[in-house]
Amino acid sequence: MVKITDLVIATHNPGKVTEISALLGPYVEQFYSAGALDLPEPVEDALTFQENALIKARAAAQGSGKIALADDSGLAVNALNGDPGIYSARWAGPGKDFNVAMEKVHEALGDAPDRSAYFVCALAIVWPDGREEVFEGRVNGQLVWPIRGESGFGYDPMFQPDGYDITFGEMDAAEKHLISHRAKAFEKLVKACFSA
Ligand code: IMP
Repeated sequence: MVKITDLVIATHNPGKVTEISALLGPYVEQFYSAGALDLPEPVEDALTFQENALIKARAAAQGSGKIALADDSGLAVNALNGDPGIYSARWAGPGKDFNVAMEKVHEALGDAPDRSAYFVCALAIVWPDGREEVFEGRVNGQLVWPIRGESGFGYDPMFQPDGYDITFGEMDAAEKHLISHRAKAFEKLVKACFSA
């Protein structure tokens, strides 16, 4: 196992800091966050999850001089050509209301027969010397309506992963974390960067 001294989590979201530091606890001595270090938030203006994750990780690595990790994630709906995609958070509007976002997806789909969708998580790690790597995890599923379940967050209550008859919103956290897009991306990152 490889253990690094310092890692900056390139986010101003305390929830993400807690989640990522729990996942990578065994591999890192000291965690920092872009928020706590008062690093400026870069503009995420790329058109892919991978590039947006890289923008955040590069800014944090350059601003701190330490290894930095960023994630970018969202829901891609096949019948909507991948929307809401990188705009998943924005579809919830200024009130960050995901009932509104799920309604928008439902309305945009209309009676389209294809209800397939997938969650994506891109993780970018950038070293202070400029080296960079990106890892992507995906989970495929079907969108359901009406929504079901109150666990999780975001679009979880309308997403039923393939092979299951319950939505992420009906699943307990431990079960979701075994199969989610985020779990898959972290598995790849740990294998590539922290396994001897
Ligand atoms: P960001 O990665 O912080 O930009 O957020 C992406 C958005 O995608 C979140 O606000 C959620 O709406 C959505 N999203 C990402 N992962 C999940 C998930 O596991 N469940 C439900 N929604 C998710």
